[in-house]
Amino acid sequence: MLKKLGKSLFHQKSPVYLGINIVGYLLGLTVFYYDSFFDLQTGYVVPIFHNIFVPALIFLVFLTKLLCIMVNPGYISQENCRQYTNQYNYDHQLFYPTRCRTCHFQKPARSKHDRFTNKCIARYDHYCTFLMKPIGLLNYRYYLLYLFFSLIMHCYSSFFHLLLLTDRVYQQDLVNDSDFYTSALSQKLKLFFLITFKCKWTITILFLSSYLVTIFSWLLIKHFFFLLNNETENEKLKYEKLLKDTSYRKEVFQIRNSLKIKTKLNFQTNQYFYKKKFFQNLREVFFPFLAKNRKSKKQK
Ligand SMILES: [Zn+2]
Repeated sequence: MLKKLGKSLFHQKSPVYLGINIVGYLLGLTVFYYDSFFDLQTGYVVPIFHNIFVPALIFLVFLTKLLCIMVNPGYISQENCRQYTNQYNYDHQLFYPTRCRTCHFQKPARSKHDRFTNKCIARYDHYCTFLMKPIGLLNYRYYLLYLFFSLIMHCYSSFFHLLLLTDRVYQQDLVNDSDFYTSALSQKLKLFFLITFKCKWTITILFLSSYLVTIFSWLLIKHFFFLLNNETENEKLKYEKLLKDTSYRKEVFQIRNSLKIKTKLNFQTNQYFYKKKFFQNLREVFFPFLAKNRKSKKQK
């Protein structure tokens, strides 16, 4: 019952979910302006750059996030199955021309049956629990842009709030240089708590932004390497499983035997089967339909 209610309320296309996103966007703007606005009143000059840059940046984060959520990630159906099958060759290591047990069609190479949406998705990357959406062939580009703009936004926010914090401490005479260095430890602690209390919101946002900078940097670096190697998170996990899990490897050999695949299996050389030149990889991700029907060089 609760699960059903949750599902209907927080479904990606439901107005509630959309509403939460819009409120989040406005809240983000307010958080940025809460601090800078009052400083505008007291004469601290917030550059025009800030007033244009911040709304534009938050809008881009919001837009790419929304696109990532609303766009079809590459659901495969009986009708479009052939189109997706033509897109990539089977590497006969991670992907084989086998049938999906649920969807009953031949699984295109690089696709995966997503258990959350119960559909097969082309060039499946991962299921993003934060966005509540699988990331696949058609929304991966928006996901990358979302990560990129988010990182810039949180970097800027960290920098801006650090600047604001130091400015406040000096402007409000919270720290008097001569007193500070000669005062006792208890006095310094007292001052520390006073600053923390007086600038609690700036400090909170500063911590939150810095924390998000680390999260988004890590995600972006990870996906940069995926882009470099034309690999998906799903393929990386599958490959690791192939190396470590002997029972899975046995299963793979059984499939290969049943399909009478005669090519040699070399785990190491075949890891980045879909890798091309960097700009070709980039084009494949950002314009997936231009790359359609282009066969990988490694295959006949
Ligand atoms: Zn399926």
